[in-house]
Amino acid sequence: MKSGMLAAETVVDAIVKDNEAPQGQPLDVSGYEEAIRNSWVYKELYEVRNVRPSFHNPLGLYGFMAWSGLDTLFLKGRVPFTLKHPGPDYAMLKPAKDCKPIDYPKADGVVTFDILESVSRTGTNHAENQPVHLRLKDPSVQVERNLTEFAGPEARFCPAAVYEYVDDEANPGKKRFQINSQNCIHCKTCDIKDPSQNINWTVPEGGDGPQYVLT
Ligand code: SF4
Repeated sequence: MKSGMLAAETVVDAIVKDNEAPQGQPLDVSGYEEAIRNSWVYKELYEVRNVRPSFHNPLGLYGFMAWSGLDTLFLKGRVPFTLKHPGPDYAMLKPAKDCKPIDYPKADGVVTFDILESVSRTGTNHAENQPVHLRLKDPSVQVERNLTEFAGPEARFCPAAVYEYVDDEANPGKKRFQINSQNCIHCKTCDIKDPSQNINWTVPEGGDGPQYVLT
């Protein structure tokens, strides 16, 4: 939230300055990086930058616990190095054959809720006739690679049931990939996590999406 507030403030400053400058120049929002660096959000994040990457260490769980405890409580990020993740998030997904399916309990309607009920609580709405904002670079990749090798992770990592593998009526016995884009709550997980990097999240029509309201 703070980084978003700083972005908005930087853009407003740039628009004010632009009104005083000669016409036709692009908006200069280069002050954003400095605004972030000078804010408390940068200080907080810098202090914990090594905690998550320390999960990947030769000593395993105990190595991570020892390091993150020391770093969080005493060092507070004051070390002359920054640990790295072994690769991008999407490349870390294991093939389904190397994993055990998780048996999740059913939603109880008290503390946990059905996925579509949760989506309806966000008030998400997209005009029906707008262009689909979730685009596939290659329409065949989802079934041919993601379903075959990774058991269709989109149907699990999307929190709004946007992606489904359904029976392909035109090809009995086969599946096809279906995108229910009107449910999208704009979390962008699919853009980041798709192991084939084949889903491109584009900006939908203005104003559409989750309608969070304070009641
Ligand atoms: S942005 Fe989030 S909610 Fe929308 S399709 Fe991707 S994973 Fe689902």
